[in-house]
Amino acid sequence: MTPSFETVIGLEVHVQLATATKLFCSCPTDYIGSEPNTLVCPVCLGLPGTLPSLNGRSVELGVKTALALGCSISRTSRFHRKNYFYPDLPKAFQISQYDLPVATGGSMPVFVGGEKKFIGITRLHLEEDAGKLVHGTADGRLSGRSFSNVDYNRAGIPLAEIVSEPDMRSPEEAREYVLTLRRLVRYLGVSDGDMESGSLRVDANISQKCSDGRWGGRVEIKNVNSVRAMERALDFEITRQRGIMLSGGTVVQETRHWDDSAGVTRSSRGKEEAHDYRYFPEPDLPPLIVNDALVRAMGESLPELPWVKRERFETEWGLSPEDAAVLSERLDLAEFLESTVASGAGRDIAANWIKTEILRILNETGLDAGDLPFTPRVLGELLGEVVKGSLSNTAARDVLEVMYRKGLGIQDAMKETGVVPGGVTGDLLAKAVRRVLDANREETGLVLSGADPSGKKRKYLQGLVMREIRGQAPVGDVSAVIDEALRQMRGLDE
Ligand code: ADP
Ligand code: MG
Ligand code: ZN
Repeated sequence: MTPSFETVIGLEVHVQLATATKLFCSCPTDYIGSEPNTLVCPVCLGLPGTLPSLNGRSVELGVKTALALGCSISRTSRFHRKNYFYPDLPKAFQISQYDLPVATGGSMPVFVGGEKKFIGITRLHLEEDAGKLVHGTADGRLSGRSFSNVDYNRAGIPLAEIVSEPDMRSPEEAREYVLTLRRLVRYLGVSDGDMESGSLRVDANISQKCSDGRWGGRVEIKNVNSVRAMERALDFEITRQRGIMLSGGTVVQETRHWDDSAGVTRSSRGKEEAHDYRYFPEPDLPPLIVNDALVRAMGESLPELPWVKRERFETEWGLSPEDAAVLSERLDLAEFLESTVASGAGRDIAANWIKTEILRILNETGLDAGDLPFTPRVLGELLGEVVKGSLSNTAARDVLEVMYRKGLGIQDAMKETGVVPGGVTGDLLAKAVRRVLDANREETGLVLSGADPSGKKRKYLQGLVMREIRGQAPVGDVSAVIDEALRQMRGLDE
């Protein structure tokens, strides 16, 4: 019998914390697009005689994240020096946390295939980022170059490293874990969570457990720059590791780098591997004391967490799982929805409009919902008109479009779009029908002479009327008025 395998995955995620200044000095952190080596000082360049001084805001953001993950906060933790020689590290050591991290022992729920699963969080610790080597070759590798440039603008930027338990069993679970964590840090406002720009970086650990009792070695995959790349790298490793074990070989425990264009992982043994970090306590920093007041303040600053919101949208509001997921993806969108409903709009209609119209506007403009030129209350008013039947969906959509493009209120936007409050009725509707019938004599003639057995022409004319009045009347009314107009025309012919 061929043995079966179980995949075991644990992730180490680095999140760049959204502070204004670096972890141990007052250099600014907005390094993207800056001239190389302009956001540096003697402290983050590691010059002799300088002393680090801890940025309190980064501790707050780390504690806030840890509390959202259900971690215990260590009232006393400390910093260590992690020694290694690499040119992106000006001091030749990184200040990090080691045996006493600021937070331990939490968990985070992820939804996979409609199931909720809790993934254990081993620890969250604070550390400083390294600088960036600029190799100048197309593939970003050193090969064939006699020199590389280094940019220390990123050196010293605060990171929270979040280490998971090896609780994931598939690349899909790993993907959901990363997406959930990214959503969380964005909700909390502790990081922009962008993988493309490197604000969120993932190292993926993966091993195989065989039904015959053998355990394969754990492989740590580095250099995955997107969620998609991580999934591909994990898929590749599953095949590679199982292949080795099926042929009786041993999976070596090692670090491997993902090559996205080749679609393979490559061993980095012999290069940066076999570290001896010689951790020792950082003598220039006192222990990190986190007091009750800070923990309480950070706890009180937490918004409703994204997974709680998502479940509430489903169970309490009765939204579909898909809608609940879309509408809880962004805090600004979710809050816009909740304020719209709080102002009196129905949950279903508000959810519908916000996941389509509002989300489309936000995607088109890159705006935050809070920066829209109209408030949730005003959207609620507009939806109220739709519910009352005085505005059709189409008309309301036209009005909304003008409201955001020209920053107008409902009334002005209605005037601008030619939308009639109360809808098109009576004489206005009769006139619109007449206009359409007169402008389409051929079709009208066929309908009148009974040469439209399938009713196709009649439907076509009705569609034209609906367009003429921008959907501002119920279809039934329009149909009745067309019938009436046709009756009159027949009467005139006789
Ligand atoms: P290291 O210090 O070498 O990085 P850790 O014990 O801190 O090792 O583990 C790092 C990551 O590896 C964690 O996310 C953990 O969940 C994961 N991990 C541990 N054991 C396994 C395993 N057998 N298979 C896959 N991942 C694992
Ligand atoms: Mg590690
Ligand atoms: Zn500095």
